Amino acid sequence: MYSDRHNSGYRVSDWRGPRTLAERPIKSAPMVIDGRVMNESSFITYVERLKILDPQPTRVFLHHTWKPTRESWKGKSTIAAMKKYYEKQLWRDVDGTLREGWTAGPHIFVADDGIWLFSDLRLDGVGVRGHNTGTRHVEMVGNYDEQLPSGATLDNTIAVLGMLHVKFGLDIANLGFHRDLGSKSCPGRAVQKEWIIPQVAQWIDGYRRSKTPAAPNDPAAQVRQMREALLWMIKRRLIPARPESPLSKEAARRRLLGPITAEMQLNIAGQAYVAQVFSEGLLMRADGSGKILSVAEMEKLLLNQERKA
Ligand SMILES: [Zn+2]
Repeated sequence: MYSDRHNSGYRVSDWRGPRTLAERPIKSAPMVIDGRVMNESSFITYVERLKILDPQPTRVFLHHTWKPTRESWKGKSTIAAMKKYYEKQLWRDVDGTLREGWTAGPHIFVADDGIWLFSDLRLDGVGVRGHNTGTRHVEMVGNYDEQLPSGATLDNTIAVLGMLHVKFGLDIANLGFHRDLGSKSCPGRAVQKEWIIPQVAQWIDGYRRSKTPAAPNDPAAQVRQMREALLWMIKRRLIPARPESPLSKEAARRRLLGPITAEMQLNIAGQAYVAQVFSEGLLMRADGSGKILSVAEMEKLLLNQERKA
């Protein structure tokens, strides 16, 4: 069952189920969900523009769905099925009234196909029994008891956690795990805070630097900042470079980004070679006007303007 490890903590005083056969739950209004899916860049813009209401959230919790798994996740139809499932849950409110249907759920589901908005990020949701006031809940789609999240799911999780901590003014060192407050393994036994927190901290660092404007009359700083912003966006796809290797030096001279592979032995026409893949960034104006430039061309342009000035 979906998220059956997440007992409703939403103002539940004491769960005992129907007290008599005659007791009928009061049905809640249908759960309101957002349902949009975003990529990292559109999620950043969305959260930047969001007006957070008082009281400000005090803590962000990370979860895994356990089920659905990465394999059984089907995007929009799984989101719809989870909403239906939550709307069937029985719970008792603080007055002891039996109710059917949660009024909110987790805020975000992070999957390989993107960042899914579920319950309103400006409001409390349901994630940890007894700890839903002032908290926000991020669900990684998949079961991470035996293996670590990876690929797009991990990239999206890091971006979501980073962006929410920046937006709410919270310290990433205080990231919450569901298991901090219960006997569950959530967000998965394989996931440790010492593993994920430094990765999010690095994301936050890059985000902050990308938002610090370089002085308009300092082309060298602009060049540095453009390169930093690009490297920040692709850093999870890069592998450690050997700066002293001839290939790395040539890549730097050509102003490429990377490397994105290790050095590989290749045989070409009977001759042994060492190959390594670096990547080239291309830039175009957001309105589509003008010429498309490589990063190297843009850097030259900025620095030449400095010389002419
Ligand atoms: Zn959980």
